[in-house]
Amino acid sequence: MTRELKENLREVSTRKNQIETILLHMTDGIIAFNMNGRIELINPAATRLLRLIPEDENFEKIFSKLNVNINLEKIIYLENWTSTEERVTVGDNHMHMHFAPLKNEDDIPTGVIVVIQDITEHVRLNNMRKEFVADVSHELKTPITSIMGYADTLLEGEYDKETQDKFLNVIATEARRMAKLVTDLLELSRYDNDEIKGEKTEFDLGELVKQCQEKLQIEIEKKNQTVECFVTANVPAVFADKDGIERVVLNILSNSIKYTKEEGNIKIYVGFVYSDAYIKIIDNGIGIPEEDLTKIFERFYRVDKARTREMGGTGLGLSIAKEILDQNSGSIDIKSKFGAGTEVVIKVPTKKQTSIDL
Ligand code: ADP
Repeated sequence: MTRELKENLREVSTRKNQIETILLHMTDGIIAFNMNGRIELINPAATRLLRLIPEDENFEKIFSKLNVNINLEKIIYLENWTSTEERVTVGDNHMHMHFAPLKNEDDIPTGVIVVIQDITEHVRLNNMRKEFVADVSHELKTPITSIMGYADTLLEGEYDKETQDKFLNVIATEARRMAKLVTDLLELSRYDNDEIKGEKTEFDLGELVKQCQEKLQIEIEKKNQTVECFVTANVPAVFADKDGIERVVLNILSNSIKYTKEEGNIKIYVGFVYSDAYIKIIDNGIGIPEEDLTKIFERFYRVDKARTREMGGTGLGLSIAKEILDQNSGSIDIKSKFGAGTEVVIKVPTKKQTSIDL
């Protein structure tokens, strides 16, 4: 009999330890209150998430401080009451709270349990999605309004050939802008869904940069800019998706051309440090204000929306460049001085990266 009792006690103690360990390490917060609203049990996550202090020792104090209009009696005694949910914001964090009555074996209420989940990341992603949809709609609406306006004007009136050509040119430009926007969006979405897994090969970064410069020669000449390219001797071959890296270089170089005045200077350096080769593109263009530097990799972010849209930018070029470099274990860094110029450094690995399966 004593042995049986000992066994039972040991089992109870083991279970208690297990539950305590689970509560200690749970990322969700748990608080159990007794019928008087006193805390019976609380785990560290609950204290941390709700930023509780030792004085917050009862139901009333805790939830009135959080501005949650909830009543312990209502949870315990209201007929057909099963559970309720509330959302609170503590500092920058968003929390979801789930209240439920605690009952004993005879279905008699003994208190209330609250489960607290941190949903900050979920709220952030949801806001990003909403902003993204609003941005896409706005970006598409602007050229569509223009196209419709000019097309209707042409249809309604009689115009000489010169005016007709002028209107048709606007329509063509706006249609091209929409096409570029949709192509860029599709490309981003394919990166997001991991659909683009460019084949990695070894290639010469200096050669690629020179080819990109040639591809943009017309734009460079149009603005009468000087572009100089310096390639350090013996840069090892890089190992990456060549088409992707070409896209990155074209995006960055065409930004330098776009955002640098006529007769401006652009210098390109290709070299290597440790296991990375780098391309540094320096322009003496309009520069980027310091407060915008952290945001320019965000989708649709443009420093001066109206002006950069006029220049044909979609605000997606740098986001695409970053996605491509992330996929190729590379990196991109931008330094800039407003009114003086911008320096972009792209790094691409020179050796095959060994993937470690965890
Ligand atoms: P966009 O298609 O508008 O050029 P990007 O994503 O390539 O979009 O760039 C985002 C914004 O960063 C641009 O709209 C521009 O305001 C700024 N920017 C990028 N590169 C430069 C640069 N070399 N000089 C000045 N501003 C730049």
